[in-house]
Amino acid sequence: MSEPVKEVGSVTGIYSEHEEWSVNLGESTVHAKRMPGRFRTLKYITESFWLIFFFGAYLRWNGKQAILLDVNNRQFHIFNLTILPQDIWMVSLLLLLLAMTLFAVTSVASRVFCGFFCFQTSWVDLFTWIEEKIEGNPNKRHKLDAAPWNAEKIRLKVTKHAIWLAISIFTGISFTIWFEDAFVYWHDLLSFHLSLIEFSVLLAFTLGTYALAGFLREQTCLWLCPYARIQAVMADSQTILPAYDVKRGEPRGSCVMPARLYNNKVIASIVSSAFRYVRPVWTFERGSNSVALPVDCVWMPVTP
Ligand code: SF4
Repeated sequence: MSEPVKEVGSVTGIYSEHEEWSVNLGESTVHAKRMPGRFRTLKYITESFWLIFFFGAYLRWNGKQAILLDVNNRQFHIFNLTILPQDIWMVSLLLLLLAMTLFAVTSVASRVFCGFFCFQTSWVDLFTWIEEKIEGNPNKRHKLDAAPWNAEKIRLKVTKHAIWLAISIFTGISFTIWFEDAFVYWHDLLSFHLSLIEFSVLLAFTLGTYALAGFLREQTCLWLCPYARIQAVMADSQTILPAYDVKRGEPRGSCVMPARLYNNKVIASIVSSAFRYVRPVWTFERGSNSVALPVDCVWMPVTP
């Protein structure tokens, strides 16, 4: 009896294809390669917005904290503006506007918020940047993870986790000081006079940041994020969506890079048959007009 034919690439085919899919559900740590380029630079710029989160609360205005979300006294102070409970509709409208903007951006350009702005992405990016500085590139990190424990491995791991914890504590402090005077809070913290609520918030944010950015990483998107649950309904055929193109990608096999001769060198562009992306930076000595695609290459958009 012949095997039933699978509908590859169609919507119904997805259900039969998924039997062969392998999804990392957190069993192994993903050590992604950090590739330089235009979009990486853009990511650094957009992620630097979060510096406001860390340092904005220290800004003073007319002798007071410039932005103070004084929940205890039910007043929000933003420079000269004071928002009272009866003005909360303005905050609601602002949040609604931000939500609609997020939906519109997702509909046009897909997961740009996730890739360039989300706090989970930004903190994971910071944590993995530190990891790379201490433990090395992804290959070295995989080897280190698999290696038996010794003095060097302990030194590297302890250093990394100490820095991660310091950032997590600073994240907790930075969150809390938006809700009370930053300098009073630091005084209470350093003199061990935090209230139970202040201490609980600090502890929750410290552990949350440490766990989500240090360990859960992309699994947060898979298991916890509500935005990830509804993204699919915002995309249509016009959405710029990096996705697998079955017509270009099948049948699978090793890709080759078309190349051209320039300055006595072969300049090769990585061109995937599945993604319309090119990375025109590979240079090889003369002698071959095609090169096997490296397995860890990252796709970059075609330069116009
Ligand atoms: S899916 Fe959610 S947690 Fe993940 S990057 Fe997007 S917004 Fe952030």
